[in-house]
Amino acid sequence: MAKEPQKTFEQNMEAMSKLTPAQMQAQIKELDKICVCGKCPTYVGTGEKKLTFCAIGKSAVIKKDKGCLCPTCPVQKNLALRWDRYCLKGSGMQQSVMK
Ligand code: SF4
Ligand code: SF4
Repeated sequence: MAKEPQKTFEQNMEAMSKLTPAQMQAQIKELDKICVCGKCPTYVGTGEKKLTFCAIGKSAVIKKDKGCLCPTCPVQKNLALRWDRYCLKGSGMQQSVMK
């Protein structure tokens, strides 16, 4: 059977935008389990507790860039994200409209 072509980030967001707020929360909770921010030098020691900045947007706490592990994260691949440093630069959605 032919493999379904990988969806673009924009198509994934379109699908996510149809979720109810409760479904969205549940989805983000699932992504939190996979997110590798917790091991990132930019994250460690900042006191930040949130994760999955590619979905929720910038951290209010993280200010200093010490590198980014997002390119190694399965969420990046699963959602076809194309950016990095979401904690500093904003969510995938936000970065997709920035030039
Ligand atoms: S892509 Fe980055 S921000 Fe998003 S879940 Fe993975 S490590 Fe966290
Ligand atoms: S978004 Fe990237 S830079 Fe920020 S904490 Fe996560 S892995 Fe590190």
